[in-house]
Amino acid sequence: MAKDKKGLMFVLSSPSGTGKTTLTKKLASNNNNFSISISHTTRESRSNEIKGKDYYFVSRDEFEDLEKKEQFFEHANIFDNRYGTLRKPVLELLNKGKDVLFDIDWQGTKQLKKIKDLSLVTFFILPPNLKALKERLLNRHQGNEELVNRRMKKFNEEVSHWNEYNYIFVNDDLESCYSKIVNTISLEKKGLSQKQDLEKIKAKVEELIK
Ligand code: 5GP
Repeated sequence: MAKDKKGLMFVLSSPSGTGKTTLTKKLASNNNNFSISISHTTRESRSNEIKGKDYYFVSRDEFEDLEKKEQFFEHANIFDNRYGTLRKPVLELLNKGKDVLFDIDWQGTKQLKKIKDLSLVTFFILPPNLKALKERLLNRHQGNEELVNRRMKKFNEEVSHWNEYNYIFVNDDLESCYSKIVNTISLEKKGLSQKQDLEKIKAKVEELIK
């Protein structure tokens, strides 16, 4: 746990299209004490996204400038775009006693885990099956098969990092997955960890990537 900070850090990662952004937003909107860390990205904004709320959309030059000035807590290259979390706003939120939620990938999670004096609770969200995942992606990318196939190809690589996380949940039903995360967070806030059946999770992962 963040040792001398009052707030705690919770990371949600998953392959693209698993519902993690919906879960993160639901957690923040139902709990005043949660703040979502807003990332910087060089990718284009989507029609439903709000600048400064979903992301800070910046140019490559702006991103590289922040990187050179070592402003990032973590950053990663994903689908040819750069994504990163600034250090300062996160520390300000933690110092105010806010719990911070991160919707970031496994590369960023790895970097955050290495930072001294900050400890995280990390969640990895799996889709129930590949058919559901493809449907969600087609819906998000307005039927763009090429883009969807590219994201599906990345799936196996992303899922292979499941065992670097504290908790792994299957998003087969939004409400039940959400409740599992909320219960886990409230136990973790009391300093209580839960054990998961790793064999069962491993079997689920193998079913998804075969
Ligand atoms: P999308 O472009 O679909 O919004 O996000 C693509 C991926 O980038 C998602 O897995 C998301 O969690 C991840 N991501 C978003 N912001 C960050 C960030 O600041 N750092 C890292 N490492 N990953 C991020």
